[in-house]
Amino acid sequence: LKNAKVDRETYSFYEPSMNDHLEHYFYENELHRAILNEEIELHYQPKIDMKTGSIQGLEALARWYHPEKGTISPGVFIPIAEETGLIFSMTDYVLKRACADYVKWRDEGIHIPSFSVNISAKQFSKREFVSNVLEILEDYQIPAGVLEIEITESITMNIDNNMPKLNQLREAGVMISIDDFGTGYSSLRYMRDLPVDFVKIDRSFISMIGQSDGKNMVDFMVDLAKLCEIDIVGEGIETSDQMNYLLSIGCRIGQGFYFARPMPFEEVQQLYVTH
Ligand code: C2E
Ligand code: MG
Ligand code: MG
Ligand code: MG
Repeated sequence: LKNAKVDRETYSFYEPSMNDHLEHYFYENELHRAILNEEIELHYQPKIDMKTGSIQGLEALARWYHPEKGTISPGVFIPIAEETGLIFSMTDYVLKRACADYVKWRDEGIHIPSFSVNISAKQFSKREFVSNVLEILEDYQIPAGVLEIEITESITMNIDNNMPKLNQLREAGVMISIDDFGTGYSSLRYMRDLPVDFVKIDRSFISMIGQSDGKNMVDFMVDLAKLCEIDIVGEGIETSDQMNYLLSIGCRIGQGFYFARPMPFEEVQQLYVTH
């Protein structure tokens, strides 16, 4: 129900009968203003070690609170940000904001093992991307091993350009996840050599665990990741059955509404106090 409401809001955001050009201009302005005014906030969703119940890390997810339109989901504004080029300033903001939050938690004695930021392919392919990330970490005095970067399989499409960057990041200590695994076009040939730490099995596969062919798909993905010596994260876990099945096939890290929804900064603190 909650999602349906958000969908309707975001749908109506597209409704005004402006022509495409004006519409584009409108979004560009609004998003630009939103970034400047810090209308974009980060929520954090824990990744859980399903064996022990401890928090393995937090994923930062962007939220846009538009003063008139209400909450606009990243599924809507990220593509706009990519189209307009605003993704560069937005990612910069998101990275810095996540670093600042991490430092605040640390200062309050809350030890977050790691936090992750989603990086779009367009951003990743920027020449200075790696040095930008390392500079930000240095500015905030955060060890590289605390940061995880979530990219999608599309990165592996341009392997010649992106492989050196993946290597540089990992050599610096930054962890890398392939997000939404199974929905893109990963080449089996490259999987073995891909310098990544985790693959996150997409929610669409986790939700099929109740069916035998769904189980087979998940089994296959887990086996493949093991073969490539990549750790596995189950995304979008909503039931104990899904969790138990994943644990039974050796997937130890999970994320999903079953454990926790994405939450604002303050709630993470409470989570740690009560955990
Ligand atoms: P993602 O990185 O795959 O994040 C997971 C999405 O699934 C999040 O949606 C999260 O709220 C949702 N989710 C988590 N657990 C469950 C569950 O158990 N059930 C269901 N139904 N959903 C669950 P969200 O926050 O709307 O983000 C959507 C996508 O937008 C993200 O997918 C990510 O690709 C992108 N995104 C979000 N923040 C950023 C950002 O700062 N930069 C970039 N480039 N992309 C972002
Ligand atoms: Mg993600
Ligand atoms: Mg994902
Ligand atoms: Mg996903």
